[in-house]
Amino acid sequence: MVGFILIGKGDMVVKCPYCGHEESKVIDSRPTDEGERIRRRRECLKCGRRFTTYEVIETVPLLVIKKDRSREAFDRNKLMRGLLRACEKRPVSMAKLEQVVDGIEAKLQNTLDREISSSLIGEYAMEALKDLDEVAYVRFASVYRQFQDVQTFQQELNAMIQNKRKEEEKKQKKES
Ligand SMILES: [Zn+2]
Repeated sequence: MVGFILIGKGDMVVKCPYCGHEESKVIDSRPTDEGERIRRRRECLKCGRRFTTYEVIETVPLLVIKKDRSREAFDRNKLMRGLLRACEKRPVSMAKLEQVVDGIEAKLQNTLDREISSSLIGEYAMEALKDLDEVAYVRFASVYRQFQDVQTFQQELNAMIQNKRKEEEKKQKKES
């Protein structure tokens, strides 16, 4: 998935060339010029006439701000490697992990920020792993949060166990 920003007329208001109305619906859109521009057929919501716009696509890379404040381009393979490491010998399929990475990437692309802290990505990954596999979650969390000591790690585990208990209690209540 590639995120893109449309560079058009400033705020991207597209006026109908016939009546000047500012709302139109896109009825067809396809890339041209090896994907550098996008051709859109639009229909004016007021007069119903159709016109074509060419919009420039610019691929804006996502930058990850690392702990030492340096930046590097977002690399989904790197994220995948981290997840794979956490899921080693766990019953988590590659397809599931691809889904997790896709989901995280989509979330990041959807924020308008082009610079994202590495810790946010870590949080998203932990959130996803929590639902997927507990062991993988704990492994990932221990690397990611760089638990300073056994105590913090223990706290994290306890919180998780408590949450799980609460969820189970809820489930039981529903069932009874
Ligand atoms: Zn019109």
